[in-house]
Amino acid sequence: MESIAENLAAVREQIETACRTAGRRPEEVRLIAVSKTKSATAVRAAWEAGQKEFGESYVQEFLEKLDDPQLAELPLSWHFIGHLQSNKIRQVAGKVAMIHGIDKVSTAEELSKRAVQHGIDIDFLLEVNVSRESSKYGIDPVTLTTAAEACFTLPNIRLRGLMTIASPDPSQARREFAELRECLEQLKHAAPDPHLLTELSMGMSQDFEEAIMEGTTMIRIGTAIFGWR
Ligand SMILES: *Cc1c(COP(=O)(O)O)cnc(C)c1O
Repeated sequence: MESIAENLAAVREQIETACRTAGRRPEEVRLIAVSKTKSATAVRAAWEAGQKEFGESYVQEFLEKLDDPQLAELPLSWHFIGHLQSNKIRQVAGKVAMIHGIDKVSTAEELSKRAVQHGIDIDFLLEVNVSRESSKYGIDPVTLTTAAEACFTLPNIRLRGLMTIASPDPSQARREFAELRECLEQLKHAAPDPHLLTELSMGMSQDFEEAIMEGTTMIRIGTAIFGWR
């Protein structure tokens, strides 16, 4: 578990270097440590090394980690970054700081319903398929504004920005990150509260430096912190 602390330190250093190159402040980029398939012990080690925000992709595994005695007492915050179907919303609503992978209005409707039931506001991001790979989840950029407009009318949920998973090739990924940033700028014109649209969740172990160049606010890093899955 020693290597997790070392990996984290190395990633933080790379973030700082990339921010310097991009003329950005490191505080503008939040590091979300993606702990999917990794143990609660590994999460605990990262927490002890100063990491406070974690990402999970699978509902069952996330709920098990939440209940794990090693983590139960810790003030850490969770992001749900996986694809989320309507029927799973109930299980994560109220337990996470943000839900990243909403890609259907019907899922947002379910999220709104649960938020109302709990009497809370839930922050979420719409996932956009900027790489246009048919194998990927995400809203087509062409229909994004229409989908977002439907979300704006729903009570107790707040659209905070956009999320994407880019193509494997880093230079291609960089163009896609730029496109996601443009999508967010466009969306601000259609939003009743544009000041809420602050987040771009983009960049993973392979391409976070490119994402920093293009304005990411949340990078989701698994492998570079916790090792291969
Ligand atoms: C697994 C995962 C990550 C982390 O990927 P790494 O390449 O291990 O850094 C980021 N985002 C999403 C949506 C993921 O599912």
